[in-house]
Amino acid sequence: MAEIKELKVEDIRKSAEENSCPVQKALYYITEFISGPLCGKCFPCSMGSYEARLRLQALADGRGTGADVRALKRIAAEMAEASMCKKGKDTAAFITAWTSAGAFDEHAGGNCAAGECLPFIEYRVDPDKCTMCGVCKDACKYGAILGEKAKPFMGGYLSFEIRQKRCTKCSECIKVCPEKAIITVVARVPEAA
Ligand code: SF4
Ligand code: SF4
Ligand code: SF4
Repeated sequence: MAEIKELKVEDIRKSAEENSCPVQKALYYITEFISGPLCGKCFPCSMGSYEARLRLQALADGRGTGADVRALKRIAAEMAEASMCKKGKDTAAFITAWTSAGAFDEHAGGNCAAGECLPFIEYRVDPDKCTMCGVCKDACKYGAILGEKAKPFMGGYLSFEIRQKRCTKCSECIKVCPEKAIITVVARVPEAA
């Protein structure tokens, strides 16, 4: 029977580092840690990991607040002190390293500078590049694109536009636009109460 190799925390961290956003790095890490190396034998590590994942998910979803950031720091400190093995202590050290980058506070304030957390970005059409071909509108399943195709010998048409309230950020329009006229921009979300 083939041997199942246990995923090491160092390997998870290496994959997590492929994200640019510290919140996405930490969320990836903790999700993989829970589904792999976490054995559940001691309370501070197991409870801390589950709570950390909830707090990180809130920050990535644009629902996070300063209370989530403070909770993550507290969880990491408790895990560092009371975890029974190196895996829990290493996890605490990773969370601490990422929280100290300042990006967690930035997310709580409504911004993801790396543009990796979807609630913090918007898809927009660059009017200087749009040729009004209509390919994106045909590809959008959500009716989120407004615009009229350009007709030969007629001027005065406006570039296409994306209705933010309908856009699900599925990226289909980016894939099909022949002019690379659809871009993502970092947009602040309202600060949670
Ligand atoms: S610190 Fe180690 S022993 Fe404790 S739950 Fe985490 S992985 Fe298991
Ligand atoms: S596919 Fe690109 S160029 Fe064509 S209408 Fe859409 S944004 Fe404009
Ligand atoms: S990202 Fe998806 S939903 Fe949004 S405008 Fe493009 S195709 Fe439509």
